[in-house]
Amino acid sequence: MPSIPLTLENFKEIANCSESQKSAIDEISKGFEVNKTKFNEIVNHFRNEMKKGLEMRGQTVAMVPSYVTGVPTGKEVGTFLALDLGGTNLRVCLIKFESEGNMSIKQQKYTISETYKTGEARQLFDFLANCIDKFLAELDETDYKGSSRKGGKLNLGFTFSFPVEQTAIDKGTLISWTKGFTCVNAVGKDVVFMLQEALNRKKVPVKVTALVNDTVGTLLAHAYKYPNTLIGVILGTGSNSAYFEKISNIKKLQFSSNAEHMIINLEMGAFDSEKKVLPITMFDNKLDRESNNPRLQIFEKLVSGMYLGEITRNILLNLIDRELIFDGISSKDLNTHDSFETAYLSTIESDDTDTLENARKILEEELNIPSTTLTDRQIVKRVCQIVGLRSARLSSAALSAIITHCNVIETGCDIGIDGSLFEFYPSFEARIKSAFREYFGTNADNFKLGLARDGSGVGAALAAMLSTAK
Ligand code: ADP
Ligand code: MG
Repeated sequence: MPSIPLTLENFKEIANCSESQKSAIDEISKGFEVNKTKFNEIVNHFRNEMKKGLEMRGQTVAMVPSYVTGVPTGKEVGTFLALDLGGTNLRVCLIKFESEGNMSIKQQKYTISETYKTGEARQLFDFLANCIDKFLAELDETDYKGSSRKGGKLNLGFTFSFPVEQTAIDKGTLISWTKGFTCVNAVGKDVVFMLQEALNRKKVPVKVTALVNDTVGTLLAHAYKYPNTLIGVILGTGSNSAYFEKISNIKKLQFSSNAEHMIINLEMGAFDSEKKVLPITMFDNKLDRESNNPRLQIFEKLVSGMYLGEITRNILLNLIDRELIFDGISSKDLNTHDSFETAYLSTIESDDTDTLENARKILEEELNIPSTTLTDRQIVKRVCQIVGLRSARLSSAALSAIITHCNVIETGCDIGIDGSLFEFYPSFEARIKSAFREYFGTNADNFKLGLARDGSGVGAALAAMLSTAK
């Protein structure tokens, strides 16, 4: 695999690039740049927004208390169900915790159709209950024998990765949909209640005992294996994070407990929706305007898997209209909303610059562009690099802000990250770390990033366990 440039300075020259192509790329590149000064500015603004969110309700960065105060010790044992509704995928998992940080998982993935994403909420929740029912029917009785049960039922942790105002570990009302969901009759309602009702309607013997955001789940799952974990991150369809906060710092929270810490779900996808510091371009504005939640989740729209392909498509169309690539000719496919997948960016970034054969296949065979030159494809690759690098550097800025806020620059911490963008995008991690080095210097080595694959599901099961242990 060719080496992937970690900073803007490392981008290679494009062969046979005309002056007008070069100046167009430079100009686009400038708009997406997160240089040191910008990075610092974003970190500072992010820290302020975190503080505001801890003090008062209804802030841009919502800083949602999770009511999870327990930390898994790795010694927990038991069998629990988890349901993970992430945005793109739905997963049902049965997780056996076998102590010493070991566990075994059985899981089934389901895709959520557009009809469920945009229809009646009751239909969506009935679909969720159906999936759980089907999953259980396919298990052996021995799979969950001896598991903890409440009133003879199997306990389930529900990972629900949309902004929720939580009032207890098993209660939370939906604030708004994101990531393409628009179901009616759900906003303002308790999502645990809706799921439990759907399960009861179908007589599925399952009790929903914990509601967690996927970031909270990821944090718990990573902490089960690595006790020094402070932050859980999602870089998938959406982007968000959670961390352990001192309860005394959560000024807006009335909560009496002996516990010292509670996990806070930042809901950082909404960061800077006022567009004060983020490097926002006309390509982002176009995407935002055409999205089903305009002016909301602005940080998420620059960073996460649901959007990077579409930003890239917007840039390519602009270059086509200026007759700077593909002889000025587009295709019906490329002209279609969301046709440029984020996974294409991964493929093109890791493709051999001297031939860009995989890029050619994507452009000519998948997207039906009549013909492309090597220069065209190198320009496309550059566009992918520009979009991918901004995403990684913005993710890094958010993490730098949380690390600084928590005062662990010198002591260090583990950070668990789940999501296909982080898992599959080449050098995403290396780009985050390279920006860490610019910001923290040698202290950057104090932070260990780790893939918490399926963390969001495993963590929900852990939350179910912690909630029933009391
Ligand atoms: P969820 O967010 O539903 O839990 P994932 O973590 O799998 O699901 O993230 C799905 C997102 O990841 C999609 O937006 C998709 O575009 C993106 N994605 C999938 N494969 C890749 C890849 N190879 N490279 C980059 N992004 C990818
Ligand atoms: Mg997920």
